[in-house]
Amino acid sequence: MAGIVVVFDFDKTIIDVDSDNWVVDGLGATEEFERLLPTMPWNTLMDTMMGELHARGKTAGDVAAVLRAAPLDPCVVDAIKACYGLGCDLRILSDANRFFIETILDHHGLGGYFSEINTNPGAVDGDGRLRIAPYHDFHAAPHGCGLGICPPNMCKGQVLDRIRASAGADKRVIYLGDGRGDYCPSLRLGRGDFMMPRKGFPVWDLICEDPSLLQAEVHPWTDGQEMEETLLRLGGGGGVGGGVLLEARNLPALDCKLESLPAVAVQDGMPMPLRIKN
Ligand SMILES: [Mg+2]
Repeated sequence: MAGIVVVFDFDKTIIDVDSDNWVVDGLGATEEFERLLPTMPWNTLMDTMMGELHARGKTAGDVAAVLRAAPLDPCVVDAIKACYGLGCDLRILSDANRFFIETILDHHGLGGYFSEINTNPGAVDGDGRLRIAPYHDFHAAPHGCGLGICPPNMCKGQVLDRIRASAGADKRVIYLGDGRGDYCPSLRLGRGDFMMPRKGFPVWDLICEDPSLLQAEVHPWTDGQEMEETLLRLGGGGGVGGGVLLEARNLPALDCKLESLPAVAVQDGMPMPLRIKN
């Protein structure tokens, strides 16, 4: 898979939970979180919650201990290592924060597999309080994305454009994600790229509303095992960019609502990705 950039969302994609909720729940602050949720943007709320936890005597070490217990499917670990071994450039694009992500990746020995982590700043200040800041400083310079879905602190589509520019125009992109924020980048992928939405999650529902809006091939996945199989299939046997995918464009459109449809048909022993967009 040399020549490919694999961009992973983090929450509910690499780990199987939302790290923000995991920390808040794990440290007993769910009630306060839900009380404040309607009053401020999510990113601002997470910084506020870190202040609240600090005031309650919870240390950054306590936060890290909870993060280290977040569930991570062994198949996802295998998928990351396999992609890296095949020469892919792995990146993270997440609306969590750097402290949460690095803590979890380091705990599982995965930090070295990613060339870049694009996320909200997150670090411990001089008082031992965890500070979380927005990726885009939306007070000084709003990101201005017109899609109407991206949160004020991060337009993942714009970040993906920057990743593509830094990686080189000749690189193909495989993008994996589950959330509403992953929809904007999915619209910016090109015909040679691959979108891997988590089936049954918000980005999947958004894609299904009008699959023709996507240029990239769509390969849904449900769990770690299916993610691993799909990722490796896209790169296996020189299939990426090859005739298999070009032939697949002639397949009938995949009905997103039919959960029983296999994500991939096998014909003549060759994997054949179904293409949502004709
Ligand atoms: Mg996510």
